[in-house]
Amino acid sequence: MRRFTDTIVAPFTGPGPAAVTGYRISGPDAWFIGSTLAKNQPIEHEPMRAYVQTLITGELGVLIFYPEGKSYTGDQTVELFAHGSPASQQLLLNAAEENGARIAKPGEFTERAFLNGRLELTQAEAVAEMIAAETPEFFALARDSHQGRLRSRVADLREACLDLLAKVEASTDFSEEIGDFDYEAASAKVREIKPILDQLLADAKRSEIVRRGFRIAIVGRPNVGKSSLLNALVKRDRAIVTNIAGTTRDTLEESIDLRGRKAVFIDTAGLHDTTDVVELLGIERTRQEIAGADLTILLFDLETGWTDEDQKFARQFRDALIVGNKLDLAKPGAEVAIGISASEGLGLERLLDVIEHKMSAATPKTLVNERHAALLQVFAASLQELETALQSLVPSDLLSTLLREGIHILGQISGETASPDMIDEIFRRFCIGK
Ligand code: GDP
Repeated sequence: MRRFTDTIVAPFTGPGPAAVTGYRISGPDAWFIGSTLAKNQPIEHEPMRAYVQTLITGELGVLIFYPEGKSYTGDQTVELFAHGSPASQQLLLNAAEENGARIAKPGEFTERAFLNGRLELTQAEAVAEMIAAETPEFFALARDSHQGRLRSRVADLREACLDLLAKVEASTDFSEEIGDFDYEAASAKVREIKPILDQLLADAKRSEIVRRGFRIAIVGRPNVGKSSLLNALVKRDRAIVTNIAGTTRDTLEESIDLRGRKAVFIDTAGLHDTTDVVELLGIERTRQEIAGADLTILLFDLETGWTDEDQKFARQFRDALIVGNKLDLAKPGAEVAIGISASEGLGLERLLDVIEHKMSAATPKTLVNERHAALLQVFAASLQELETALQSLVPSDLLSTLLREGIHILGQISGETASPDMIDEIFRRFCIGK
């Protein structure tokens, strides 16, 4: 049965001008509308074949016809590729509209794919994540979600709840035949699925780190080489976003692609005793940055050696990674676990090895976004309630209610029980054409 009565169109490549723009036309009249964009309309549309045609704009284009069930959305679809000039885009989109298509809303193609059952909700969300991916690490996680990684974790939880619910109901309806409900076995089942949930909740925190970047605050006395270290790292690796904030006394951060992962290095205002109001503000900001960082590098100067002030910082920032800079000027016999020279580029590889090791410990197995995390928290609370209920041998109707509630929450993650408003909000955040 056809779910959609209208046909939608949009460019699915980025905004032009570009060498090529791809258009997707999807809906019941897609093949007809697609054909009207070619001068000599192909008489028969052999599916999944590329037709090189002169388009109504006079340029050559490529058209591919997808039948229902074999396209991205699941509906009849045409993909058309033409030159990516704004003029050509305007002419082709106008013509498609005149022939009955409507310009698609952001995310509408993927929404149709979801509503047609081609993708489950977490997989559809992963499409947007794949498009936004800045690093290979994030891309790989989003790709795994698109292929169903989170879907299958949530399905495992859901199946366990459905199985318990079936047992509760069977024991109510057919207690004479199958005997009383086995509270002990049910508790064991809950204990069995808890690690899946705990892993997902831990992954939610890690996913947040991967998304925003692993934050590394570089702290130390003035002139130990904090800015030089940041510059050396940014020059060496690909800077993702340049973010120069405030005055030189303020903090400054740069995101770089560190061996496929997003690392945010924060050059902080030098920490030292001062009464200067602006400097004090900078120092306060530094303390906040350190509190929010995933790793703190305490940099000291190998030329002057380890000072009492460095010692004071080391006591304050107990988990900090201590790194000696200006290795090129180090006094003979100076000992340090990690020695670098920011200006000469010495020892940076080893420093990055250590940072990479710490970052990989914070990598999630499954990408869990904020929406999933919030629902998983609610599910965790409901599972906790179920566990207590099982221990107190509560009557089966209460168990049924708790299980149904849990199944409903999981269905909001996978999409089965997501409200139209929730679905709308998710897809409207997508880009046009996806
Ligand atoms: P910050 O105040 O901690 O940010 O320190 P800067 O990065 O501004 O560096 C202070 C001074 O030390 C500058 O003159 C740098 O050129 C110099 N410097 C930084 N790193 C090195 C290094 O590895 N070797 C040498 N010889 N000088 C360095």
